[in-house]
Amino acid sequence: MRFGSVAFFKVLIKTVLCIVFFLPLVLCVVFAVMLWHSNAKLDEIQHENSVLSSKIAYLSGEIQPTVEGYYELYASSGLSDEELVAYINAKGGAEESKKTDDAAERNEQQSSTPSTDTVQQPLPLTEEAETEEQVKESAETEAAETIQPENPYEQLYEDMTVRVPASYVREEGTVYLTFDDGPSVNTHSVLYYLDKYDIKATFFVVPQRTEESYALMKQIVDSGHSIGVHSATHDYETIYGSVEAYLKDFYDAWTMIYEATGVKTEIFRFPGGSKNDFNGATRDAIIEEMTRRGFRFYDWNVDSNDAGDATWTEMFTSVPADIAQNYRSVVLFHDSAQRENTVYVLEDIITKLIGNGYKFDKINNNTQPVQFIGPFA
Ligand SMILES: [Zn+2]
Repeated sequence: MRFGSVAFFKVLIKTVLCIVFFLPLVLCVVFAVMLWHSNAKLDEIQHENSVLSSKIAYLSGEIQPTVEGYYELYASSGLSDEELVAYINAKGGAEESKKTDDAAERNEQQSSTPSTDTVQQPLPLTEEAETEEQVKESAETEAAETIQPENPYEQLYEDMTVRVPASYVREEGTVYLTFDDGPSVNTHSVLYYLDKYDIKATFFVVPQRTEESYALMKQIVDSGHSIGVHSATHDYETIYGSVEAYLKDFYDAWTMIYEATGVKTEIFRFPGGSKNDFNGATRDAIIEEMTRRGFRFYDWNVDSNDAGDATWTEMFTSVPADIAQNYRSVVLFHDSAQRENTVYVLEDIITKLIGNGYKFDKINNNTQPVQFIGPFA
């Protein structure tokens, strides 16, 4: 190719075109990719910052969580399970001591009657001996100054409160078998298979005021299993109609369990689970009130679907497969007369799970709950 020839100019034009059009294009693409990367990094840093600041706000007590606050806390705070449990416990402890103070104040007002309650602290004695009148007066002014919203449910079933545990247990590979709706004609068989493999399980019962129901509940407890409240009526529309209706139903079931077994149970399961088609309007208030009373509810993360008429094969296949997906499992079964398939498949599921190395336990009030909605959602 000679300088100045036609071929030479062809090459020259192509080279110039390349430089003018393609090089900027390539550079544009490279810069766009770099920009995209740095934006993603920036987003990540901003997210981390917001997680950190909400974590600080919760831990410093700047945000006082309601029940919704707990969900928010769990979803957005970035707290680990352990931190969350420690936080909830600390909050429970603070409320407890506030309660004691309130009780002491009330006691001060009726200073003539000595309290038999061992939890109450002795009243601090001031140097100037205040007269009863003065105490009353100051208590009244104080009450007028700090107008606090009263809990409308506090007066209801005052004996229905239980202790919140100091910490929660959450162990990998543990299977919690749970049986709802009993006792029933199947309870004996369920107990038989559990006993055969020395497994402790949990029964969320629907007690009735009959000799048979009481005897079976006692047998459940005497065999070493946990017993919890499910419902007295299991009537969704009534119990989820209001907080008062829920408390009434719960108190009824809780009392029957106590009469039959001597156990003041601290655990329960909502009929239909904590999130169902009937409790949308009332569930937050119910959960808040039950949590205040110290009760813990347990949903499930494995549904045997026995209530949906699952066959033997379906349950035998799905239950172990679903358990294999979880860190630990709370399995929903039913101990009711119609659920014969549950009795037939129970032993085979148990032996399969034992073969796969799982350990079984019953739910106590210090078992960290599995919840669809709530502090441990
Ligand atoms: Zn049920």
